[in-house]
Amino acid sequence: MTAKVIDGKAFAANVRAEVAEHVARLKEEHGLTPGLAVVLVGEDPASKVYVKNKHASTIEVGMASFEHRLDASTGEAELLALIDQLNADPKVHGILVQLPLPGHLNSELVINRIDPAKDVDGFHISNVGLLGTGQKSMVPCTPLGCLMMLRDHHGKLAGLNAVVVGRSNIVGKPMAQLLLGDSCTVTIAHSRTKDLAEVCKRADILVAAVGRPEMITGDMVRPGATVIDVGINRIERDGKAKLVGDVHYESAAAVAGAITPVPGGVGPMTIACLLANTLTACCRANGLAEPEGLTA
Ligand code: NDP
Repeated sequence: MTAKVIDGKAFAANVRAEVAEHVARLKEEHGLTPGLAVVLVGEDPASKVYVKNKHASTIEVGMASFEHRLDASTGEAELLALIDQLNADPKVHGILVQLPLPGHLNSELVINRIDPAKDVDGFHISNVGLLGTGQKSMVPCTPLGCLMMLRDHHGKLAGLNAVVVGRSNIVGKPMAQLLLGDSCTVTIAHSRTKDLAEVCKRADILVAAVGRPEMITGDMVRPGATVIDVGINRIERDGKAKLVGDVHYESAAAVAGAITPVPGGVGPMTIACLLANTLTACCRANGLAEPEGLTA
């Protein structure tokens, strides 16, 4: 069997186009422009690239982008004051603080200062609680993107066995909650899981969010399963820099029914979902109907 490749790049382009259509309509019918504020503290090179990409994508769909670049030595009080200011700004519907923050800043304190209604990353403790209790929330972008692709591929997910490898707060746990919300039977595996291969082999849906290059191999995949590879790992092979996932693509694709590639799978969906969340936040803030198909 050779798996169907789930084209996250094309899927994300469709999501962005849909968001752009909604944004145009909001402007025309309500005079509203959704706005996203991104806060970057310090000079982390990967973070700088992410922030640049987020800015470009925000502008491309017709939203307003507000960038705040702060010195690495910025103190907690100054950062919290900026967040208070963005919370109070009616032009700002979404706020994202790029992680990781420099070591002297307490990420939890900073994230929990964001107005939950503007927390487009879905990391605020209120949004985590809302998601966990099945209520309307802001959903973390990466798992939301995975859910959209899974719903598109399977139609209904109810009753399917889902295994999520990884239990981080930003991917593994919210992914498991979303799959549970769609009535999957969910198992969360992690570094202490016994016989990981056997656990993974039970999965109709296998989500890998481990951060270990090509750790999930074809012999761990149930024939016909859908494999979602969240991993982004930079490795060197044959003297060349290469981007690989947490799944060993060749061996897994030979067994799976469908699979997301790396690059071009989950990655592009993350920014697309950030835009979708900003649109949703703008609609909610103005008492307007939420865009269909772009939320959990
Ligand atoms: P974390 O490092 O926070 O979490 C990794 C998880 O994997 C942990 O729960 C850990 O278990 C588990 N794990 C580690 N080793 C093993 C093992 N040998 N067997 C089973 N489980 C193991 O990573 P993130 O969740 O932040 O990210 C995961 C991956 O997704 C990374 O490659 C990251 O780059 C990528 N990513 C991609 C995004 C995208 O946009 N596509 C966005 C965010 C992340 P334990 O808890 O027991 O330590």
